[in-house]
Amino acid sequence: EYISVANLASVLKMRVEDFVKKLEDLGFEDVQNDHILNAEHAGLIAQEYNFEPIIQAKGEDGDIYAAPARSPEDYAKLPPRPPVVTIMGHVDHGKTTILDYIRKSSVAATEFGGITQHIGAFSVPLVSGKKITFLDTPGHAAFETMRARGANVTDIVVLVVAADDSVMPQTIEAIKHAQAAKVPIIVAINKIDKEQAHPDRVKQDLGRHGVEVEEYGGDVQTVLVSGKTGQGIPDLEEAISLQSEVLDHRADPEANVEGWVLEGTTKKSGKVATVLVRNGTLRQGDILVAGTTWTRVRALRNEAGAAVKEIGPGMPVEVDGWREQPIAGDEALQASSEQQAAQIADLRTEKLERLQMAKDMEAINETRRLEAERREADEAAAKAAKAGETIPEEVLKKESGPEIVSFIVKADVSGSAEAVVDSITAIGNNEVGARILRSGVGSPSEFDVQHAADAGGHIVNFNTIIQPNIAAMAEGKGVKILDSNIIYRVVENVKALMSEKLSPKI
Ligand code: GDP
Repeated sequence: EYISVANLASVLKMRVEDFVKKLEDLGFEDVQNDHILNAEHAGLIAQEYNFEPIIQAKGEDGDIYAAPARSPEDYAKLPPRPPVVTIMGHVDHGKTTILDYIRKSSVAATEFGGITQHIGAFSVPLVSGKKITFLDTPGHAAFETMRARGANVTDIVVLVVAADDSVMPQTIEAIKHAQAAKVPIIVAINKIDKEQAHPDRVKQDLGRHGVEVEEYGGDVQTVLVSGKTGQGIPDLEEAISLQSEVLDHRADPEANVEGWVLEGTTKKSGKVATVLVRNGTLRQGDILVAGTTWTRVRALRNEAGAAVKEIGPGMPVEVDGWREQPIAGDEALQASSEQQAAQIADLRTEKLERLQMAKDMEAINETRRLEAERREADEAAAKAAKAGETIPEEVLKKESGPEIVSFIVKADVSGSAEAVVDSITAIGNNEVGARILRSGVGSPSEFDVQHAADAGGHIVNFNTIIQPNIAAMAEGKGVKILDSNIIYRVVENVKALMSEKLSPKI
């Protein structure tokens, strides 16, 4: 929603010099060619030249979004889905060994000839008929990378602690990651086959780091395992399954497909990506959009490399036919036609370009402002020196508090509301800062808009549907609704709005 003076001039087919003069006539001061105008100003100027500006209402931007969260009653009617598990823990405590054991002993592997391929995740059927999906990149970096992109893929963390080594620095780090993401932990006390194994010590040490195991009155399950011999692995799988029942993981196999991209690669067959289906059933011929790329699915392959016709919620599958390679952490959503998918991909590319331009311009404007400030200070100092005075304190140290921009945060669930609040609070510098007025679950309401308007603030909407009357009311009151369903985009939007606050001072 930004355009530079030079670009607007070219849109209006005017010479930049004439256009800049015209802007000054209109009351804009100190205009430079690369000065950035917001949508409102650009619209006003365009109208001056008898152009009808098209400013889209939020939510009618032609993009697609994940379906909003269901009511608890509707959710309870859905069938269970397999939980998605990430294995974490200190180096050498046996994460890879345990994963390999689970993968090799899985029925799926033997059923399809036994050679499992790395596609980013694999699913294991239990004796009970239930399934568990394991992300097959153990470790913390993968978990955090996905989370940083707003992809809350993991339902349960299995924390591997070697019984002969107990809690180590990366164990503590893993606990912190899991807690920050509000993902429950199951502890696998590994290497139980070793003579030096001291499982009780592990349990005590965990207690000291905020992991209260069942044996000591907490609610964290522990399982004694050996990745080497396979001892206890079925118990671990049962513990995961039980935890998933308690957490009540469900999904709608009939819904439009929603999923996360776990990884993307280029193979002989073209660009492929592993999609972890979150909702709906993905079938051959379906059309998916992920970030700025899309595909009409030609073939679906499971982790054994076998072609499958369809894949349901909680399951990973390799999808081919992507125009560009998708990025891990992107959300994959079903589109209704190739045409729609291509349009959305274009629209998102444009959005990203505009955002990048706004960022660049923001940086340029900021540099200019600092330069001007320094020049001013230098001049004042020179003047003072000439007059033989001491340099006044306020010239030496230009100090003023940051400009505060207020936000009301609305989100689909409380977990995402908190994540949004956390990431917004982290934004800001000594020029401009963000303040959260209030946060809550549900679509933005009239009250939210009124509150934001009264406070001169704005609304951040995360993954809920904005009612048209609310969008209209907000527009009428000058309240912006920043709409997104990916955390890093929320951050980008908030930053863009905050930089807009700065521009009048430039
Ligand atoms: P990671 O760094 O956590 O993935 O650890 P690895 O799976 O690579 O295991 C580190 C070392 O511990 C390897 O030499 C494994 O063979 C060994 N190891 C893993 N699990 C067990 C186990 O249950 N018992 C024994 N005795 N050794 C194990």
